[in-house]
Amino acid sequence: MSKPFSVKQSLAMLQQVIEQLPAKRKVAPAPSAPELQETLDISLNNQGVDTEQLVCAAKAYLEYNPDVSQVAFYKLLYSGLNTPALLGDWVTSLSNATMHTYQVSPVATLMELELIKQWNNLVGFTQGDGVMVSGGSQANLIAMLLARHKRCPDIKTKGLRGQTLVAFVSDQAHYSSLKAANVLGIGSDNLIAVSSDDQGRLDPQALELAIQSALAKGHTPFFVGLTAGTTVIGAYDPIQPSSLIAKKYDLWLHVDGAWGAPVLFSSEHRHLLADSELADSVTWDAHKLMNVPVTAAVILVKQSGLLRQACSGGGGDYLFHSDENEAYNLGERSIQCGRRADALKVWMSWKAIGSQGFSDKIDHLFDCKTHCVEQIESISELQMLAPAAYLNVLFRYQPSEELDEQQLRQLNIAICKKLKAQGTYIDYATYKGRSGIRLILANSDCQRSDIDDMLLACISAGDEIYKGK
Ligand SMILES: *Cc1c(COP(=O)(O)O)cnc(C)c1O
Repeated sequence: MSKPFSVKQSLAMLQQVIEQLPAKRKVAPAPSAPELQETLDISLNNQGVDTEQLVCAAKAYLEYNPDVSQVAFYKLLYSGLNTPALLGDWVTSLSNATMHTYQVSPVATLMELELIKQWNNLVGFTQGDGVMVSGGSQANLIAMLLARHKRCPDIKTKGLRGQTLVAFVSDQAHYSSLKAANVLGIGSDNLIAVSSDDQGRLDPQALELAIQSALAKGHTPFFVGLTAGTTVIGAYDPIQPSSLIAKKYDLWLHVDGAWGAPVLFSSEHRHLLADSELADSVTWDAHKLMNVPVTAAVILVKQSGLLRQACSGGGGDYLFHSDENEAYNLGERSIQCGRRADALKVWMSWKAIGSQGFSDKIDHLFDCKTHCVEQIESISELQMLAPAAYLNVLFRYQPSEELDEQQLRQLNIAICKKLKAQGTYIDYATYKGRSGIRLILANSDCQRSDIDDMLLACISAGDEIYKGK
């Protein structure tokens, strides 16, 4: 049975785990769930085990988890390793700070407030506030809650009473807005998917027609959700024309920048999010392009005080005491009670490389993206499936005009599978009825040569499968 061990011993164990890991872990370990269950002892028992077995379990845990820190992990909207943020994450666990009151998270509270100030500056909210949340999904939920509260403040206490509230996003929006509509009692049928144009951007004309159609039915439109950096192709919805419409019909305008907001760091690329200050709220994930370990995200709000109005309630008799630091109790801005101090890891990484460091990373990734698109366009077997405004590249292997959509889909899925077996983790996706390979550039260690290698691997996998070469 393992005896209690000290922080120093726990650190020594961590060091053992790290030192005994293979120099390069697998990017795409392949065991199925039943195989893994056979290989590892996941069971919990009545009797405890010794520390050596804990070290073994931690090693196995890491060995079988995809090593998302490597460039070859192109699968999702995060990749890479941000070591200052990792240090911050470890210290956060050691502190076990909880963000409801200043008393139990003094430094983290000040750091979170500094981050919110900096983020608001980038977005252009001069009097804004905000709060860190468990991810972009919760940020989008809070945005919809604020919109609902602004339109119908009574719902907070009385609940929905027969009104049909209607929200609008584009047909390319992330699925979290469906969940928000569900949780908030709006109903997912009352989340209208407005059509997007040929570049995957919400069509403002279609938005206005959809609003008018909801009004004609006697419904109550209240929320427009734009996306900055859509999940599949990285499109940026037009803010300025949408904001005119939102104003005209008195609707809340939200921008979901979970993936795409960090372009605001870059003077070269921030034009993609031009007019962000016209929004009422913005979602920003630090655990995607900023490479901070999951989870770290924020909801930024233009109108200060609204978060507290919409989210506060309860806890006054034992938790939120009046004292000289009352104004610093972030818990009243949040729907959570216990909340991890995610601020420290973001603050550490921002402190380490500065805003300029993030700008440089982003500019470098855009350079890789441009190179990638140029290569794809110059290779006859490869075809772009959508414009690449941001750091998503959707393309496919298309060796002949003869193949139909279904065959091309199967062929490209087979390529992804083959690449995975070779240690490159990349996924497929569908855009406007055409399926292909979705490459995500989120790891700034990536170099042009990595892109060349990856494209060559796609072609030779495709040739092998299609031509039997
Ligand atoms: C990732 C993503 C989300 C969800 O964010 P989580 O942090 O995973 O909850 C929402 N919207 C967009 C556009 C995203 O890319």
